[in-house]
Amino acid sequence: MSEITIDGLTKEFDDVTAVENITLDIENGEFIVFVGPSGCGKSTTLRMIAGLESITGGELRIGGQRVNDLPPKERNIAMVFPNYALYPHMTGAENMKFGMKSVSDYTDAEIDQRVQEAAEILDIPELLDRRPKELSGGERQRVAIGRALVREPEVFLLDEPLSNLDAKLRVQMRAELLQLHQDLDATTLYVTHDQTEAMTLGDRVVVMNDGRIEQVDPPQVLYDYPETRFVAEFIGSPAMNVIPIDLGYDGDAVRAVHEAFELTLPNGDRFTARPPSATFGVRPEDVSLAANAPADAQTFEAEVSVTEPLGESLLIHCYLGTDELHIKTEARSAITPGDTLELAVDEDRLH
Ligand code: ATP
Repeated sequence: MSEITIDGLTKEFDDVTAVENITLDIENGEFIVFVGPSGCGKSTTLRMIAGLESITGGELRIGGQRVNDLPPKERNIAMVFPNYALYPHMTGAENMKFGMKSVSDYTDAEIDQRVQEAAEILDIPELLDRRPKELSGGERQRVAIGRALVREPEVFLLDEPLSNLDAKLRVQMRAELLQLHQDLDATTLYVTHDQTEAMTLGDRVVVMNDGRIEQVDPPQVLYDYPETRFVAEFIGSPAMNVIPIDLGYDGDAVRAVHEAFELTLPNGDRFTARPPSATFGVRPEDVSLAANAPADAQTFEAEVSVTEPLGESLLIHCYLGTDELHIKTEARSAITPGDTLELAVDEDRLH
């Protein structure tokens, strides 16, 4: 079993706290994605789990065993790096088996057989004799993943493995990684700054910010119920609209008051502390043209500043007093800058 327990894990470099007291239980076979902006500490977390970076605080257990001080090769993990880290003078096969002798008791014949099996899983048997410079980015990435597969690790660690690939290949490799995970069922930890990768790959997604964990949840929960403003704005593209409002109270009813709109908020009884102001969040797809909304929906007006056709939909930038509101609507809508739109929000989707 390869469940991972991260308990108060901390990493301090001289004067920088890269990772601060993170705690997380990862189940055997889970696919966990760490996502966050550059410098938030995701790679450092992965490198501590791999044993490539010393741990300055907290405890790390893999399969129940404390591994804080175990060298990488005794942790039964394999890591795939963003730059593939292939040796240029070695063929694909040589790269895949390099170092195997030192981490296993396999004979040469057994290692060759495992390289062949991994190559078949990744559909690259014909590439085994080529050197990295004779391979495309996607093919190199497959060889790098193959090198991890050959080790049959209990835990896979992948640090931005698709970052050097073009958009189309990333989509394809994402699907292949998911398939591979379904077939192998190994615990997989994946680092990315790309929220689409995080949403599509993770059983659960860990959103990190400034060395700390903001939220850990399955992708849809993260999207629908962000627990912090950081998560609300980080997950989702185009990003959630976040608008400062005043609050007005009339018995149990709570009103959101803005220079350009006034709305009665649902579940007014939640505002027990009666704050005078708040931050109002609504995703672009949860604002619609009033004409398409239910007759009893609350409406307000906004003026269009810019329209961006996204192909499958139309993104509209609106002036909302001195704030800006982005809304997503049907492609091919005849809306142009300067139009005044009557809009409605989906009350159940307000944040
Ligand atoms: P990116 O997406 O850009 O790779 P990240 O989220 O993976 O970012 P880390 O590489 O984990 O971030 O870095 C976290 C913080 O620790 C950063 O502020 C970084 O500058 C710092 N850091 C990382 N490695 C070292 C090091 N060897 N010495 C000093 N500071 C470091």
